[in-house]
Amino acid sequence: MTHDKATGTENMAVPEAALLTIRNLRVGFRKSSLAFEAVRGIDLDVARGEVLGIVGESGSGKSVGMLAALGLTAKNTVVKGSVRFKGEELIGKPSSEMRKIRGARIAMIFQDPFSSLNPVLTVGAQIVEAIRLHQTTITKKQALARAVELLALVAIPQPERRVHQYPHEFSGGMRQRVVIAMAVANDPDLLIADEPTTALDVTVQAQILSVLRSLQERLGLGLVLITHDLGVLAGHADRVAVVYSGRVVERADVRQLFADPRHPYTRGLIASIPKLEATRERLFSIDGAPPTLGQLPRGCAFHPRCSHAVERCRSDDPALRVVGNGRLSACHLAEALPSFGKDQPMAAELGSVVR
Ligand code: SF4
Repeated sequence: MTHDKATGTENMAVPEAALLTIRNLRVGFRKSSLAFEAVRGIDLDVARGEVLGIVGESGSGKSVGMLAALGLTAKNTVVKGSVRFKGEELIGKPSSEMRKIRGARIAMIFQDPFSSLNPVLTVGAQIVEAIRLHQTTITKKQALARAVELLALVAIPQPERRVHQYPHEFSGGMRQRVVIAMAVANDPDLLIADEPTTALDVTVQAQILSVLRSLQERLGLGLVLITHDLGVLAGHADRVAVVYSGRVVERADVRQLFADPRHPYTRGLIASIPKLEATRERLFSIDGAPPTLGQLPRGCAFHPRCSHAVERCRSDDPALRVVGNGRLSACHLAEALPSFGKDQPMAAELGSVVR
């Protein structure tokens, strides 16, 4: 690992098994003459067979970074850095080549399953279309048989019958299963799921997450799970990257992250997860709001909301650095933070209690 003085971040070596390698990704938007940076130098790796969780509040840059990596952003977007998929650089690739990669080798699942499906076509017709777009030699009959297999793979009952039904004949959870079936129709190596359960109720969320995890394990995919809800990642991710104001502020193995978070923002996210055993329904929230694009505070972007902030935090932007056991944190006080939730009351450390 080397330190990049220009970006203030650690440059990670590229792991040999990496499927996706993102280095110093920066994404900005031009508006009139001003440029706003939504992603400010992110490094990430995803290996085959692993689940990387990316978590952050709305507007943190967690989704736009992935969309930019896949060439799915608007024309006024400026994307810099490097995104390598199986060693092949994606930044700067022509749209025609990116279209061949998306949907075939890298697939995406979005939040709202209804808007991902065409209401006037049967789900079978849509899966067939997705297959034949990338596999031009397959016949319609073969593709329909594959569509039935795919519906069975995502645990849709009676797939032979349901393949001929329309999206409105499926519940929200079943529609998301159809979207997942379409996403894996061409045997991608990497699946990126952007808030795949946000539009669903809690019990269906759990089902969709286990469908995704079991598919990932059976097919040996790399899976990127993007969410604003850290609780979603607890039982489903192997590693987690916490994003705040366009930067990764903590990265760790999921167990380490929950047991001993080394960034105050991660601590706030964990404390904000509602707990079943909690009495009197107390919920924590992190005080304040994330900074808006183009109005980042000096120093650490989290300092106006951080109860640990010291003078240095208001002037020096902390770099992402190793803080022990291979975990990374972008906090000046990472090693000095108290044991999580033990030495002082959560509310005093993390923010407000909402009753
Ligand atoms: Fe808080 Fe300072 Fe750490 Fe930023 S660097 S998270 S302000 S303690």
